Amino acid sequence: MSDAPVLLVTGGSRGIGAAVSLGAARQGWRVAVNYASAKAAADDVVAAIKGAGGEAIAIQGDVGIAADISAIFAAVDKHFGRLDGLVNNAGIVATVERVDEMSPERIERMLRVNVAGSILCAAEAVRRMSSRHGGKGGAIVNISSMAAVLGSASQYVDYAASKAAIDTFTIGLSREVAAEGVRVNAIRPGVIETDLHASGGLPDRARELAPMIPMKRPGTPAEVADAVLYLLSPAASYVTGAILNVSGGR
Ligand code: NAP
Repeated sequence: MSDAPVLLVTGGSRGIGAAVSLGAARQGWRVAVNYASAKAAADDVVAAIKGAGGEAIAIQGDVGIAADISAIFAAVDKHFGRLDGLVNNAGIVATVERVDEMSPERIERMLRVNVAGSILCAAEAVRRMSSRHGGKGGAIVNISSMAAVLGSASQYVDYAASKAAIDTFTIGLSREVAAEGVRVNAIRPGVIETDLHASGGLPDRARELAPMIPMKRPGTPAEVADAVLYLLSPAASYVTGAILNVSGGR
């Protein structure tokens, strides 16, 4: 039986999460690839990892539902029997609306998936990794956004606020568990070429914003994954509570 470390990537089926899953497997992690509804995409990521000699499973579950989060971690326990890393990557945007146009339901779901989902997943991970709970330590990487700093006016301020909450959560949790062998960091991606923009009704957003980015181009999921993998790795052994911009200078 393998003693390779185990990583759970929420929203690992597409975009940044898929790149993290594939990159982590190349670095020797066994990977639990969570997805909400795109089973075929998650199965493709798992197949690619296995095809390259790695080990992975796909686990369905909506991080906006507390019972699903419990089930996701139970599936990791059952299949791998250990957990060494969590990437809180699953996240949503919504269509472009001013704040004074947003429905309560939209705002509630945004915060439930992006904020409560990440906090509840981190809590489950800490219960397994912290020395306080008999764990052997581990690393958590939260995926924030440059929106946390920029505010996303006239696009999705609720999303930006949800990511600012992730920044603060990263700082607080990192200090809470720093002496228990668990490091907690965040990445703030800038504009990255994924399906996320189309899901917010702006399929050309990455291309259209390119002139406003100092590096004059959107980033790739792999470029974000490289930064996530660094924060997960022993090379970042003294790094906790850090929030790293991966944004081409924007
Ligand atoms: P994406 O291409 O839309 O992929 C989103 C992933 O999250 C998919 O795997 C999706 O699963 C999963 N997901 C969505 N809602 C979920 C839920 N409730 N429960 C479990 N999984 C769920 O998005 P992305 O661009 O890679 O974004 C990944 C993260 O980076 C997000 O947190 C996003 O806010 C952040 N980010 C992205 C950008 C950007 O420009 N793309 C910039 C800054 C930050 P299914 O495949 O099953 O739908």
